[in-house]
Amino acid sequence: MLGTLRTIRGIEVEGKRVLLRIDGNVAVDEEGDPVPGGDQRLEAVLPTITYLRDHGARIVLLTHLGRPRGNVVESLRLDDIARRLGALLQTPIRYVPDLRGAQARAVVEGLRNGEIAILENLRFDPGEEVADQGLASDLAGFGDIFVQDAFGVSHRRHASVALLPEILPSYAGFLIEKEVQVLQGLLGQPARPAVAIIGGAKLETKLQLLKNLLPRVDYLLPGGGIANTFLKLTGVRMKVRLSEEEHKSEAVEFFAAYRGKIVLPTDVRVARAGKTSEALILPVQAVTSADAIYDLGPDTTVAYCRVVSTARTCIWNGPLGKFELPPFAEATIAVARCIHGPETFAVVGGGDTVRALADHGLLGQFDYVSTGGGAMLAFLEGSPMPGIDPLYET
Ligand code: ADP
Ligand code: MG
Repeated sequence: MLGTLRTIRGIEVEGKRVLLRIDGNVAVDEEGDPVPGGDQRLEAVLPTITYLRDHGARIVLLTHLGRPRGNVVESLRLDDIARRLGALLQTPIRYVPDLRGAQARAVVEGLRNGEIAILENLRFDPGEEVADQGLASDLAGFGDIFVQDAFGVSHRRHASVALLPEILPSYAGFLIEKEVQVLQGLLGQPARPAVAIIGGAKLETKLQLLKNLLPRVDYLLPGGGIANTFLKLTGVRMKVRLSEEEHKSEAVEFFAAYRGKIVLPTDVRVARAGKTSEALILPVQAVTSADAIYDLGPDTTVAYCRVVSTARTCIWNGPLGKFELPPFAEATIAVARCIHGPETFAVVGGGDTVRALADHGLLGQFDYVSTGGGAMLAFLEGSPMPGIDPLYET
């Protein structure tokens, strides 16, 4: 959906109880401790919180953390998030170990202008992920207005995402506004030439994205399993089932429709006979059925970089290779390094993609890094966005 969002600019928030849904789902390890660099998502919502605080709102923060699946999991309580967010804001945040009960109510009632509280992990309540009306109406009782800034879950039909906007006057926060502005720009009239770099493990998870993007871009530079599927369609041999047997006709159809825009790899890095400690570089014609194609080759990355260097718009989702194995991270690194032209507006998103690029210090090559993995994909697919669709001006 394309349109203009209702935002918090221009509305009176002083003295109002503002229920603010953020995505505080920072990366945590098995003990529930945050991993280094995991503050990115917290930093992304600071502008909205700061604005509301400085305009005298009484802020009630809502977020989820991890996958407790409707149970209280001690390591996933939000006390630590409250501390870290408070440190970033240089404002104490009151952590309430309760989501919808009397304790939560008492704290919310006691908030003064500019004060901030955070309620307990939304996903401790079984109602969150099944979009329970009872939970939504309890939460709505804590706010005069609702502000949505959790882009990372905006594609989910969860109670705090999809239902709160049906109950309270609702507005987009600044992060959602920025994400939507960037992504709408890509779907609208991107500066040309426009290039999509799409990798990842499987074509089937990216087919809808590709179908929505390809009419809008000039080139597709495929990587990962997507490149493999296309290579397979041209007769290249390799060691993998064509994993998308059931999607094969869709793949064939897509490939035929957009053949003119797709730049195919000419060489690849393979693991031969299961040996993943080193990469063998081969022209695609030389790949055998004992070879698993795990990355693109150096000639291909040079060719991809040539296309990228002419691009005015570049959108990247999906690693170009099995980057978790160091010998197969090369193409992802090489292509990321050549995205920096002053004329190029480059956007990247995707959980694994951002992790791969961050590990190699390459996020600075991009003009915008989306905070949404699945949410960015859903938006670019043109799928319904239950957390954003109700926020457009009508
Ligand atoms: P994102 O989370 O950024 O959307 P995906 O989840 O689509 O990305 O894809 C990431 C996964 O794709 C990684 O685990 C990576 O190992 C895998 N991958 C990339 N290229 C290949 C390949 N050639 N063979 C197997 N797996 C691959
Ligand atoms: Mg992924």
